Amino acid sequence: MIRILFYILIIWGIYYLAKGYFKPKEEKKRKQTSPWQIEDELVQDPMCGIYIPKSKAIKAKIKGKVYYFCSKECKKKYIKQLKGR
Ligand SMILES: [Zn+2]
Repeated sequence: MIRILFYILIIWGIYYLAKGYFKPKEEKKRKQTSPWQIEDELVQDPMCGIYIPKSKAIKAKIKGKVYYFCSKECKKKYIKQLKGR
């Protein structure tokens, strides 16, 4: 009778360890797909020199090069400046 209880305890122990082994894997998967890892690097406005997050910046492609501006005014001014030269 004591032997049976001992075996049950071992089986339960293995099951518990296996459960604990698989749990961290699931957590890692959840971390990889978390919405907090959205790429949002800072970019510099070439007109006024201010740094703005890429998601909020105004993107402009001028002569094959991509520029990021803080506002439409800065974008207009920069294009004017390029054309004036
Ligand atoms: Zn600006």
